Amino acid sequence: MSLFDFVNARKAPKAPSSPAAPFRSTRSNASATAPEAVLRGLAPDGGLYVDPEIGKGGFDVQGCLTLDPFGQAERILTRLLPGFDDMHALVQRAYAGRFASDALTPLVPVGDDYVLELFHGPTAAFKDVALCMLPQLMTAARSLTGMKEKTVILTATSGDTGKAALEGFHDVPGTGIVVFFPHQGVSAVQEAQMLTQEGANVAVCAVRGNFDDCQSAVKQVFSRYANRAPVPGVRLSSANSINIGRLAPQVVYYFLAYASLMKQGRIRFGEAVDYVVPTGNFGDILAGWYAKQLGLPVGRLVCASNANRVLTDFLTTGVYDRRREFFKTNSPSMDILVSSNLERLLFYASGGDADCVRNDMLRLQNSGYYKISASALDFIRKDFSAYSCDEPGTLGEIRRCFQETGYLPDTHTAVALHAAQEYKQKESSGAPVVVLSTASPFKFPAAVLQALGEEPEGDAFRQMAQLSAVSGLEAPASLAGLQGKAYLHQDVIEKSDIADYVLEKLPRL
Ligand SMILES: *Cc1c(COP(=O)(O)O)cnc(C)c1O
Repeated sequence: MSLFDFVNARKAPKAPSSPAAPFRSTRSNASATAPEAVLRGLAPDGGLYVDPEIGKGGFDVQGCLTLDPFGQAERILTRLLPGFDDMHALVQRAYAGRFASDALTPLVPVGDDYVLELFHGPTAAFKDVALCMLPQLMTAARSLTGMKEKTVILTATSGDTGKAALEGFHDVPGTGIVVFFPHQGVSAVQEAQMLTQEGANVAVCAVRGNFDDCQSAVKQVFSRYANRAPVPGVRLSSANSINIGRLAPQVVYYFLAYASLMKQGRIRFGEAVDYVVPTGNFGDILAGWYAKQLGLPVGRLVCASNANRVLTDFLTTGVYDRRREFFKTNSPSMDILVSSNLERLLFYASGGDADCVRNDMLRLQNSGYYKISASALDFIRKDFSAYSCDEPGTLGEIRRCFQETGYLPDTHTAVALHAAQEYKQKESSGAPVVVLSTASPFKFPAAVLQALGEEPEGDAFRQMAQLSAVSGLEAPASLAGLQGKAYLHQDVIEKSDIADYVLEKLPRL
């Protein structure tokens, strides 16, 4: 599409899901092109951008699966985010030379199942898959829409998004980034990753509160400045999975895993594969559902939660209730009671009823819970199963897996491996099971050592060395290399001060 067409498309009367502006908000008829949706992050009404036509077919799945990983990424992203001119170049710039191998996300056999390792990017986080791509999409979208203002990314992180986003956006022209993380709510390694971040356009700040506090405060800042600049010359956007540009790249590795199973002769095209996903904000697993909508033969999507089992309860009963105790667990990136991306699934489950979604989200905000209709629950349960795993279960699973298979999972992956065992006992159809692995065990060395019956010694770097010795594995260079780096960020604030902090920092990024 030329810039001329693009500008005209923007001026066209708002119609839901026109080819020129395929996205609309989950909470109203407001529409957007893909580049606009990526730049805005959240829709002006507080909703999330969705493509109502995602399941309408027309995607050549089989052809896509024959391509190399970069080729698959290009095809899938072109389908999910139409309107970007040169997706080939964007994919190359995002991934070439930045992952441990060009397979991007290797599939490793573990016992009778498979582990899809998503953590071989620059910050050893699964978030890297999406956050290597997002700055490319944003830069392209800025030029497509002729945006002159600076784009400042506001991000709430449960640990891994923060570092991956900082890595992606630091010193990117025309952008700035502010990251909020829960004070004492992330692992020592995750904290070191963020606090040592260099770059002239970055701010990193700890918040006295949990991830939900950070996320809801950031969302409030977004809604306040949805239609105006917070300071002259600046527009806000999001690197969280509420941004469709963050979600779309995650669809790719569901295809990569499937292609890998075909290549190994484990399945033929068309046979179902089940995916088990360690879940927090519901972005990763929703990407699996998107893959299924595109036509990938996804069997069941198994949502694995830690002791914060709000999603397990919701997917079982249809009642979402955040009025419960919040647990700080050994899998901190999943310590979430308000899972933002569920809103997208609710939109599809309600048949695209934006009023219904808006009311449920208002009820969640004001009363702390909502209940979906029986038909919506049926719609969801057709594709999703849910299990949760408590703290002893998580550590026990790390030990069991390492002893029985020789594979050492991190705490988040262990939650999913545990769910996979339970799922196979209770409902599996016998399809191959792919467990998504979202972090390296070296990011959570204290908990993993404890699971193996070892006493963690000294600081996080000492513990990484200890874990190396016990497991015979090497720590990722991006983590071990943090040792001795200067801590550049010291801010710790109250959650009520997040908006003021943003306003104070913006002019200096
Ligand atoms: C973010 C994260 C998750 C949860 O992913 P969602 O998309 O938020 O559901 C799980 N594990 C790790 C290590 C993460 O960083």
